[in-house]
Amino acid sequence: MNDNSILALYLLSFVVAVLASYLALMLAARVSRARSGQALAWLIGGGITMGTGIWSMHFIGMLAFYLPIKVSYSFKETLLSWLVAIVVSCFALFLVKGTRRNRHNLVLGGIIIGAGLSAMNCVGMAAIKVGPGLRYDPALFVASVAVTIVGAIVALWLAFRLRGGDAWHTRLTRFSAAIIMGLAIMGMQFTNMAASRFSTPSLSAFNDGMDHNWLAFSVAGLSLTILAFILLLSFIDIRSRRYADALRLSLKTVHSKLAYLGTHDALTSLPNRSLVNKKITEIIDAAEGKAILFAVLHINIDRLKTVNESLGRAAGDQLLNAFVLRIRQTLRPGDMLARLSGDDFVVLAVVGQVEDAAGIAENLIEILGRPLHVPSHEIHVTASIGISLFPNNGTTAESLLATSDIAMSHVKQHGRNNYHFFTSEMHARNRDRINLESGLRPALRENEFRMFYQPKVDIRSGRIVGLEGLLRWKHPEYGLVSPTRFIPLAEESGLIVAIGDWVMEAACQQSRQWQDKGLMPDIIPIAINLSAHQFLQRDLVDSTIAVLKRHAIPPASLILELTEGSLMGNPENAIDVLRELTRLGIHVSIDDFGTGYSSLSYLRRFPLSEIKIDRSFVQSLENNLEDRAIVRAIVTLAHSLQLTVVAEGVTKVEQLRFLRQIGCDQYQGFLFSEPVPADIISGMLASQ
Ligand code: C2E
Ligand code: CA
Ligand code: CA
Repeated sequence: MNDNSILALYLLSFVVAVLASYLALMLAARVSRARSGQALAWLIGGGITMGTGIWSMHFIGMLAFYLPIKVSYSFKETLLSWLVAIVVSCFALFLVKGTRRNRHNLVLGGIIIGAGLSAMNCVGMAAIKVGPGLRYDPALFVASVAVTIVGAIVALWLAFRLRGGDAWHTRLTRFSAAIIMGLAIMGMQFTNMAASRFSTPSLSAFNDGMDHNWLAFSVAGLSLTILAFILLLSFIDIRSRRYADALRLSLKTVHSKLAYLGTHDALTSLPNRSLVNKKITEIIDAAEGKAILFAVLHINIDRLKTVNESLGRAAGDQLLNAFVLRIRQTLRPGDMLARLSGDDFVVLAVVGQVEDAAGIAENLIEILGRPLHVPSHEIHVTASIGISLFPNNGTTAESLLATSDIAMSHVKQHGRNNYHFFTSEMHARNRDRINLESGLRPALRENEFRMFYQPKVDIRSGRIVGLEGLLRWKHPEYGLVSPTRFIPLAEESGLIVAIGDWVMEAACQQSRQWQDKGLMPDIIPIAINLSAHQFLQRDLVDSTIAVLKRHAIPPASLILELTEGSLMGNPENAIDVLRELTRLGIHVSIDDFGTGYSSLSYLRRFPLSEIKIDRSFVQSLENNLEDRAIVRAIVTLAHSLQLTVVAEGVTKVEQLRFLRQIGCDQYQGFLFSEPVPADIISGMLASQ
């Protein structure tokens, strides 16, 4: 045995001591945070690892100490010393996990652990087969026990302090602490060994022939491997636990988010349909046996679609939020507001009597009718409200929501901007609406649509100078259905694009026939109505040209009627499309002029050829001075922009006389003719 081997063994012993200490501190932290189910496993596993570490450090130290002498070891005592180390380690971990850090626990724990480690030392040394000869120097022995106890107290104190967390600075402190602890453990080991005395200097007689050196290095290697392995496992555990924690946390937030989204509307943060259902059911359940009356007010924003299409979705969203704010202002404490879908809202209100529900609706109509401001626009929207009452109109959440919806649709079909209580007759009408909606697609397939035409008459000459094509649906059950009933349904379902294509095709085909029959010696353009949805179709220009070509009719034979809303949605884009159409010779007319949001500055920039003054202004021309002024102004303005002016809905001679006076170009209305089938128009054209 040479000095180098001894030094190497001491070094190894130190490394094992530091590693064991580090592991002990880490395990203490891990055990103290383990959940109850895993704590015992961590405690026992940790105790075995830590005990093995301490024991092997002790064993290697002993081997190094006695290296110059040939010694051999009893297996039984060696095993016992290992078990003592494990029990002491388990106890230490148990102490750190289970108790609070106070002086009492530290000292008591330190004494027990210190005594235990000293016992391990003694048992380990007793394993040395030295015949009768092992004795202890009493003073040095007491000193060694004292050092061990002090070391244990320091170690415990460190373990308590460092049991929280795995942050890098905790790890660094833990590593420094491990070095100090390693030194301390070695210190107590050597004082203990120094305290021992052998009576016989040579112990070769007891040598069992095992290579001492080999034994020392294999024990050291083995324990180092175990320690390193456990250390690695702990790191992996920390990592996976962190990952699991992060996962758990994000899952938790996702869960609560999902739960919220499941019951709330994302845009307005209002409760959604499922929450309203629940709430209504709760109120109904709570009403059991009591005479309670509550109202479901179904609010629909009139023409939100037009705003979306004309001003863009962002403006629509802002409008919705502004709308919600308004509604909130009228609510009483205890009322509930929810959003059912796009433009559908519901207010639940417990009321004393039926009139109270009407009062709430009137308030809502009044406050919602005031102009709303979204950036760069002032918007006038109104609301249609349908009211159903519990228990009169329904006794379940579903039936109450359905009846209030029917009442709301009734308001929509009768001029909007109003409220109405549900009545049982509404049921039948609602069924009709549903029938129409589902019948639209088959109608296109079965060719149930018809074109009617209404003449546009030159006010000066009285001759037909144009025609407006107006769609009709020859319904097998309902007869001739007005477009005001089915066009909105077609717009909702998107079927309006296919229907619009059909209209353009039919109008151009008709124009061809009339031209072929020589009924149109001069060009008499046919105007067709385009929904905003159609105007937004990218291929509008191309498909229009294709239809014109197919029927070989000049572009000037077609006028596209658009509402202000369709153009104002994206004015810049509208200008581009209009330029393209104008370049091709297709004329564009603004329909229902005066009812939309168009600004005059844009009107100047739109390449248009015609303005149609809405019927609402023409209706009261004979007696309403204000309307006269408006119509006069529109005519002047249109002429200054070189636009043709058409007055719609002329039913009286007086109206026509005024229009002639102010220089309006054309008129259209029942005074001359209602919209009629093509063959009747043929007769009119032939006779002029
Ligand atoms: P609009 O474009 O303003 O069409 C004029 C409407 O006023 C027609 O109603 C016409 O019958 C009616 N009218 C004409 N003169 C008078 C009158 O002197 N007095 C009264 N009270 N009414 C008169 P109609 O045919 O029921 O069409 C209603 C609306 O349906 C149209 O209003 C138009 O917006 C839409 N529409 C009609 N056909 C189509 C179509 O092919 N495509 C699209 N997208 N919309 C269409
Ligand atoms: Ca029109
Ligand atoms: Ca019109």
